[in-house]
Amino acid sequence: MRLHEYQAKQVFADAGIPTPDGEVVSSPEEARKAAETLGGDVAVKAQVHVGGRGKAGGIEVVSSPEEAYEAAERIIGMDIKGKHVEKVLVEEAVDIENELYVGVTTDRGEGRAVAMVSSKGGVNIEEVASENPEAIARTHVDPAYDLRPFEAREVVYGANVPRESARDVTGILSTLYTLWDERDADDAEINPLMVTGDGDVVAADAVFNIDNSALYRQEELAAMEDEAFDDDFEARASEAGFDYVRLDGNVGIVGNGAGLVMTTLDLVDHFGGSPANFLDIGGGADAERVRSALELVFEDENVDSVLFNVFGGITRCDEVAQGINDALDAFEELPEPLVVRLTGTNEEDGRKILTDRVETAEGLEEAVRRAVELSGGES
Ligand code: GDP
Ligand code: MN
Repeated sequence: MRLHEYQAKQVFADAGIPTPDGEVVSSPEEARKAAETLGGDVAVKAQVHVGGRGKAGGIEVVSSPEEAYEAAERIIGMDIKGKHVEKVLVEEAVDIENELYVGVTTDRGEGRAVAMVSSKGGVNIEEVASENPEAIARTHVDPAYDLRPFEAREVVYGANVPRESARDVTGILSTLYTLWDERDADDAEINPLMVTGDGDVVAADAVFNIDNSALYRQEELAAMEDEAFDDDFEARASEAGFDYVRLDGNVGIVGNGAGLVMTTLDLVDHFGGSPANFLDIGGGADAERVRSALELVFEDENVDSVLFNVFGGITRCDEVAQGINDALDAFEELPEPLVVRLTGTNEEDGRKILTDRVETAEGLEEAVRRAVELSGGES
């Protein structure tokens, strides 16, 4: 589960990390009031799970309540990389001297946490890692000892953090590690961690992703789940038990198995199309599940065509086809064209059920090309 910036900042602030005062709001009028209460310059920030909100117009720094109203009016309702903005965080603007990066994330390869600091914050850290790897200092953490103070100091000094901020940054890195550990996080990051003109250090952004499998023992975080979704689609998908991610293209995708769905996304991209979502209905999907998956995907107004990719194993193609058939009954008319690819157990029976109702295909490439074509993309 991925928390919104304002939720992550709350968790960080409760643990003692300095964050700007702020309030999350969902209307321009509330934004004006929040700016009045805070006084001075404020940052108005879109609360959606995408990086690079600033470049996309989702962050504005303004200097009056009236301007905060206008900024909120522009940002609320905006679509950023396919995510609909419903809330903005209005917070005290930070006077920036220097932007750093501090993060603790899971290194699956090593099976350990890795604690990282960079003096090149405020930009995409993956880019820094590939173009400027020496600008990032890191250490893997032995879970038997946790992050020891000398290790934290070593990383901070290794990243050439300005001397006068080194002590504060070391404290923040240690706190982030503790949060990562105690709250079952996958990622705990601050980018940028801002150094102000007065030499204070403030978390200007916050990322906190929690391991879904641990939510049962993280009650406080699990309670934030309802608000953690970017949009209604993700909330409903989660309720239905689907793994669903909304993307910014127009080819809706449904499949059984995460690997298959990922491959389908890549192929759509390869043939010049653009996926609208990732939706894995899982194994053994019965008619009812298939129906709710299709309804969800068709409801996304960005969708111009849908590709349903089924690999029949334990999941039988005829059962999935029956589900699609039922779903089609539920629609008076299919909102957008649907291409179904069935392969594996009972595939011929499956295709027979769907003949005359939708386009079917046996081969993956053929199906992907057709769905891309129907979406108006190249193929
Ligand atoms: P992201 O790009 O979506 O990760 O959003 P961030 O919260 O990291 O903000 C991106 C950039 O906006 C930062 O690197 C800053 O340069 C700028 N920014 C964010 N908050 C403030 C603020 O309070 N004051 C100022 N002046 N700039 C800010
Ligand atoms: Mn950021």
